[in-house]
Amino acid sequence: MFSIGYCCLLALCGCTLAYIEIPEAYLTAIRQDRADEQAAGEYNYDEQGDDWTGTCQSGENQSPIDLIYEDSKIVAIPRLRFNYYDQALQTPLVITNNGHTANMVIPQTRGGQRPSINGSLLPGNFEVQSVHFHWGSRETKGSEHAINFQRYDVEMHIVHKNTIYDTMGEATMHPDGLAVLGVMFRAVDRQTSQHYGLNKIFNQLPRIVQYGSNATITGRLTVGQLLGNIVTGEFFTYNGSLTTPDCAEAVTWTVFPDVLDYPRRQIAKLWNLRDSRQKPLIDNYRSIQDTNNRDVYYRTIQ
Ligand SMILES: [Zn+2]
Repeated sequence: MFSIGYCCLLALCGCTLAYIEIPEAYLTAIRQDRADEQAAGEYNYDEQGDDWTGTCQSGENQSPIDLIYEDSKIVAIPRLRFNYYDQALQTPLVITNNGHTANMVIPQTRGGQRPSINGSLLPGNFEVQSVHFHWGSRETKGSEHAINFQRYDVEMHIVHKNTIYDTMGEATMHPDGLAVLGVMFRAVDRQTSQHYGLNKIFNQLPRIVQYGSNATITGRLTVGQLLGNIVTGEFFTYNGSLTTPDCAEAVTWTVFPDVLDYPRRQIAKLWNLRDSRQKPLIDNYRSIQDTNNRDVYYRTIQ
């Protein structure tokens, strides 16, 4: 175990505030995630990514895209399998404002397992790495993908890495490197269900308003809780890219058309975050990319 004040968790400096025990392996993963983020270089959402360079500009298998039911190949696809998604994660969890999103590196479970997904058209077994969000503002919707030309208030991404690769950096260099689950949130004025796990995350957002700040989440949380009660038997799946620089074309996307209703007062906490320029961190979504005749598959429960 490693004691470090959460105020400077990422800066690796000495600190005398609020010491919290964070396992060394988890701390290493958080530092690596930060290093990967910094390797991407400076970027912002001023032009919704249209000014990003390299693969972001030249790639032909980019994300997000319009997901259109009528244009999809509706074929028999094995169900998506969730492994250890119902197991409590080791705590504390650390949530960070990295200037582009609220990001949470996912530790192993209390039993020492790493939650993973396989099945569907996934080319392997993919272990969960991190969770983050894309959002709009009080006036705009902020999902990245559009479903039947409709965008939603928030899109949550649960990022997984193929177990055949050792690091995220290595995985991004291969087309079968990553698998990301996309979940749409709709802001509602009345809470329809409890969303206990999501509330644990969103309740910490007021503590990470400033760029580079961190907060911890304790208590029982599973990755499965983040999915709320959405139907996971129906989904779009296609080959695409990271939606942030360097836009590596390494992602098997799974996007669920079932939408999670979530209170507007919780989603509003995202709109209050600030970026590294002290500007409101809003509209952190990339514009829709050309599908370029890629196959988009749709799984139905029937
Ligand atoms: Zn994302």
